[in-house]
Amino acid sequence: MTGTFECEGGCGRELKEFKRRKTRLCRNCCAAVIARDPAKAAKASATIKRLYQDPVFRSRQQRACKAGVQASIANNPAERERRRLSGKALAATGLGHAAQTPGSEPRIRAGKSHTETVLGWCPPHLRDEYRKILGRQGMRKEDARRKIEEMMAAEVASRRNGRMSFEEQLRRANAGVAVVRKFEPRKPDHDFTLGGVATGMI
Ligand SMILES: [Zn+2]
Repeated sequence: MTGTFECEGGCGRELKEFKRRKTRLCRNCCAAVIARDPAKAAKASATIKRLYQDPVFRSRQQRACKAGVQASIANNPAERERRRLSGKALAATGLGHAAQTPGSEPRIRAGKSHTETVLGWCPPHLRDEYRKILGRQGMRKEDARRKIEEMMAAEVASRRNGRMSFEEQLRRANAGVAVVRKFEPRKPDHDFTLGGVATGMI
């Protein structure tokens, strides 16, 4: 039976004696002592800055961080409110996101990402139509969305019937969608088959 002793970091934890124990500190106190060392802090800072140069590492960390924050506020209204207020305070200073001028690359990126979050359900070629409908007097979001969903259903139906109205073609062409001839397999003009030739070789 090994003996115990109190952590010398002053945290009051009871530690067990081990033969190969290197310090008289618990893990937390040991980490705190290391963090106070400026040389160690500089080394850690340089390492993390170097790692963040790697876009793969960076995006993985950002995703993990975002997921962690979302999980932490999911069932914690107080933390959500604290974050909301601190965001407002930061915006009021003119720093943070507010420091980005309109039309700057991060703003454009944020705008696109926001659109994807809010309008992800709406196909891109109908988004302008949705905004137009929504702009009408007294139009509610649910009603505008229902109208677009009706249009989506109509599109699916017309595609199934193989017909597209002239207005529909025009609207799509204006929205940047090319109208192409539907592919129809023709009867081959030779009377032999490519028997024995794997499709991968053609
Ligand atoms: Zn301790």
